[in-house]
Amino acid sequence: MPMINVYKEKCKGCELCNHACPQGILSMSKELNNKGYFYAVCHDPGRCIGCAMCAITCPDMAIEVGVQGTRYVLYDY
Ligand code: SF4
Ligand code: SF4
Repeated sequence: MPMINVYKEKCKGCELCNHACPQGILSMSKELNNKGYFYAVCHDPGRCIGCAMCAITCPDMAIEVGVQGTRYVLYDY
């Protein structure tokens, strides 16, 4: 099952990942991070297909996506 991890302190709240996700499962937090931004959250991780569009789109490399399979793949890191 794919896994997504948002490093909330790296997020600047641009919302690009929200629009890039084909599953529509990314949204913004209701709390601020240490920089004073609402940060991206995955509100339905069970529907993530591991496409990594969010990680590729993020200009601040604040998202990593892992896909469990014959080998483990990390994007951005
Ligand atoms: S990996 Fe794809 S489906 Fe999963 S949260 Fe990112 S953009 Fe959405
Ligand atoms: S694209 Fe990156 S910086 Fe922009 S809201 Fe998403 S995680 Fe935050």
